[in-house]
Amino acid sequence: MNRRYRKTVIAGNWKMNMTATETKKFAEEMKKIMPRAKWCDTLICVPACNISAALRAFKDLRISVGSENVYFEEKGAYTGEISAGMLRDLGVKYVIVGHSERRERFGETDAGVNKKVHAVLAEGMSPIICVGESLEQREMGVTGEWVTLQVKSALHGVPADKLRRCIVAYEPIWAIGTGKTATAEQAGEVCGNIRATIRAMYGARVARSVTIQYGGSMTPQNAAELLAQPDIDGGLIGGASLKPEQFVEIVNAANQD
Ligand code: PEP
Repeated sequence: MNRRYRKTVIAGNWKMNMTATETKKFAEEMKKIMPRAKWCDTLICVPACNISAALRAFKDLRISVGSENVYFEEKGAYTGEISAGMLRDLGVKYVIVGHSERRERFGETDAGVNKKVHAVLAEGMSPIICVGESLEQREMGVTGEWVTLQVKSALHGVPADKLRRCIVAYEPIWAIGTGKTATAEQAGEVCGNIRATIRAMYGARVARSVTIQYGGSMTPQNAAELLAQPDIDGGLIGGASLKPEQFVEIVNAANQD
């Protein structure tokens, strides 16, 4: 982390978990244990149908609400899709874009991810842009090239003044939901490369202002070590964000002086 230049952001990703009723219960638990003074911004991305319930439930908790997805078109005949304008109107501040589950299972492409990034920024929200390699790619030694390509494609055409609002989440696919975490060194190295890519595109001042998260089986046990890496400014947390005590322990790790 480097709090002098950029925000530390701890984000939950609930995926397809939690009903509106469970969201309310989760918030009640959180009210008992959520720390008061915070260095880091905290948010949880919830299923679209629970966004309103989460906005109500998290209001006094200083937990922002994010969306797990968005469609890039403004409006029209796209049955089942949700636009960035609709999310912004509800009070959403962050939107996950290009999560590997969406890339792998729903055929999302780098070009589509780039369109979503533009749509989210146009509505004044922050995209959390997910990038990361598969196990095969890591073993082939192409992690650097692959992640660089994803970052460059996602940010194509994004002006420098909007970069401060973008968050990049490095999520090695082999570490998501598997219990296998990248070592702090592996994660730190790729996050450092991501910052170098942004530096080459936008210059040093912009690059040092961008929050880069690590995601992939982050837990209370490994959070502090990962967050101690200079280029890791937070976490995108799946499984552990469903359990109030675990999520708060990770927030506490990010709040350490
Ligand atoms: C994720 O969903 O982005 C994620 C990192 O999940 P988990 O923490 O469960 O690996």
